[in-house]
Amino acid sequence: MSSLFTKIINRQIPADIVYEDKEIIAFNDINPQAPVHILIVPKKEIKTLNDLNIDDQEIIGKMFLTAKKLAVKLSIDKTGYRTVFNCNEHGGQTVFHIHLHLLGGRQLVWPPG
Ligand code: 5GP
Repeated sequence: MSSLFTKIINRQIPADIVYEDKEIIAFNDINPQAPVHILIVPKKEIKTLNDLNIDDQEIIGKMFLTAKKLAVKLSIDKTGYRTVFNCNEHGGQTVFHIHLHLLGGRQLVWPPG
């Protein structure tokens, strides 16, 4: 069965898409935790960070470059932002198709809960 994010990629579920290319899609989180909260998702379905393999090095790099470009576009690059991958239960992962959270537009606290 395809993941929730694959359904967004295939336009079976609507999303507010802010960037897309051959390998990556990025859309606003449905439950934003900051004024900017974007999910950057590879079109390739990879369940968790534990499932990454050597062939995925490039896509992971591309996801971070996309985060940087979106941060510049949304003018949060200078004030700052956070990028997060959650993995499995203790990491707080709820959607099992890897995604990079891009959060910004307010002061973020550290350490997280
Ligand atoms: P995780 O907890 O797996 O790191 O992050 C999953 C994220 O996906 C959550 O921040 C959640 O709000 C978001 N999310 C869950 N369902 C949907 C949806 O249908 N559409 C969008 N745009 N975001 C979703």
